[in-house]
Amino acid sequence: MAAKADSWYVRGQIRDGGYCVYCGLDLLSDVGLYWAFLQNDHVVPSRGDTVENHATACACCNSLKHFFVPPGFETMSRDELIAAIREYIVWKRAEKMAEFHERRRLCGRAPLDALPAPWAQDATLASVDQTLD
Ligand SMILES: [Zn+2]
Repeated sequence: MAAKADSWYVRGQIRDGGYCVYCGLDLLSDVGLYWAFLQNDHVVPSRGDTVENHATACACCNSLKHFFVPPGFETMSRDELIAAIREYIVWKRAEKMAEFHERRRLCGRAPLDALPAPWAQDATLASVDQTLD
């Protein structure tokens, strides 16, 4: 059954253009990405199901974020919250990279010269900022 276009999370996805607000991944560029990776993040988990508290997120960013809320979140705007959470996710992703590269090595894969897109570059985050402006 299709989600109703006026549901809180579909309205949030429309506002976010179908991009992960944290890494910029285009979750509507491929049906597989849409089905497997598009998630509805609660920016502040305790604030419930509202459009304001919704963020379109890829499964990876949503998993890395988990229940994180930045210090001082009570007085932050939505944009400030997203920016602070994005910084946390970048830090968590970097933490996971050693594990990722070790798993590749154990599975007989060649080392990567660069990190896989879209997490690779600060330019990705800059493009997210431009997308959300
Ligand atoms: Zn993401």
